[in-house]
Amino acid sequence: MDYGLTPELEQFRKEVREFVETHTPDVPVKAGVRSADDAEELAALKEWTRTLFEAGYIGADWPERYGGAGAAHSPEKDVVVGEELARGRAPAAVQGAGLLVAHALIDFGTEEQREKYLPGIRSGELVFCQLFSEPGSGSDLASLRTKAVPADGGGFTVTGQKVWTTNGHWADYGYLLARTNPEAPKHRGISAFLVDMRAPGVDVRPLREMTGTSDFNEIFLDDVPVGHDSLIGDLDNGWLIANSSLAHERSAVASAAVRLRQDVDALKDLARRTIRHGRPAIEDGAVQERIGELQASVEALSALVYANIGRWSRSAERPHDAAMAKLMFSEIGVETARFALELAGEDGILVEGDPAVVDRGRWQDEFLYARAYTIAGGTSEIMRNMIAERGLGLPR
Ligand SMILES: Cc1cc2nc3c(=O)[nH]c(=O)nc-3n(C[C@H](O)[C@H](O)[C@H](O)COP(=O)(O)OP(=O)(O)OC[C@H]3O[C@@H](n4cnc5c(N)ncnc54)[C@H](O)[C@@H]3O)c2cc1C
Repeated sequence: MDYGLTPELEQFRKEVREFVETHTPDVPVKAGVRSADDAEELAALKEWTRTLFEAGYIGADWPERYGGAGAAHSPEKDVVVGEELARGRAPAAVQGAGLLVAHALIDFGTEEQREKYLPGIRSGELVFCQLFSEPGSGSDLASLRTKAVPADGGGFTVTGQKVWTTNGHWADYGYLLARTNPEAPKHRGISAFLVDMRAPGVDVRPLREMTGTSDFNEIFLDDVPVGHDSLIGDLDNGWLIANSSLAHERSAVASAAVRLRQDVDALKDLARRTIRHGRPAIEDGAVQERIGELQASVEALSALVYANIGRWSRSAERPHDAAMAKLMFSEIGVETARFALELAGEDGILVEGDPAVVDRGRWQDEFLYARAYTIAGGTSEIMRNMIAERGLGLPR
């Protein structure tokens, strides 16, 4: 489909595409957002992060004095970069949570905090994790119970448990939400901090996922000392800070649409190679219909993403736009992977990257990971609630 990008943006796309082709590190392609498998892979991802920042392909929306692109930045360019990284199957920067921290510090932090952390985020040297979710506080994040209490010698002492912490085992610092005022209404008694992950009392326990890898962790915090200079913004203002930093990461779904289109193309290829009842599966009308449905859904998602970009640029975003896009991409992902496994038959259950296995186990990895996207960053049920209540005006 033609989304009417300007010739300048198409030229920019060409430049980014060439950059991705030349610089993408040799790190195995995996489904979803994953952690480095080992120290060597982590080093390659740090270097990749530095390269992306230096080229101005991430961090372009930061103020110029911290390395941003100033007037040369536009949300459309962020989308083009995301799309081209996805098209080139390039790994994500090591800095998912680091980018959130950067926005929190730029908007709410002190000059000292910006000077301390932003250069390390740009160079890829400092790795961050997001210490928000807790057992019992995910969708209802504001009910979190980890507490930060004033310490005798100044600063705070943090105690509690976090879970699903992506990159927690590699992180130097954690972006933490903790309750600082138990008397206040639940959204108003939370503060945002940066915690040194090597401080005494921080216990990181990796979790093993059904993909066979360990991308996230449980984190136990037991009387962890946190200096007053690690508080981001005002005390008890953490809810606003966390939501505002999350709102900066709106363009990710554009790259997800590109990945899905690639998946549907790969599915067509699989259907051509798969023999069912003595002929290629692609000749079966029912197979054509399922692939056609998926293709149409991906194009609808792309159209929605581009319509949303137009609204973001005009500051005319509607409260349910992002929820619709997030719901669509994660649910289409599950359906695509499920159908690929059906087509692949017995071979579809194999995981390893053996060339003899259909598409080197890609579909099994995609299938096992796809469910995670329906949970991370707001579950599909929560997205449906947002669409129903804020978009359609239905009762709670
Ligand atoms: C891959 C992955 C990476 C993640 N990385 C991080 C990370 O780095 N840092 C971090 O802090 N967190 C992370 N998370 C956690 C994520 O934010 C939570 O899993 C998510 O917010 C859902 O919370 P929960 O798991 O507690 O589920 P719950 O909120 O307990 O939900 C359980 C079920 O109940 C449903 N439900 C809940 N409330 C409602 C409602 N009001 N109406 C209808 N249905 C409802 C949900 O849809 C779900 O099906 C990650 C999660 C995943 C999957």
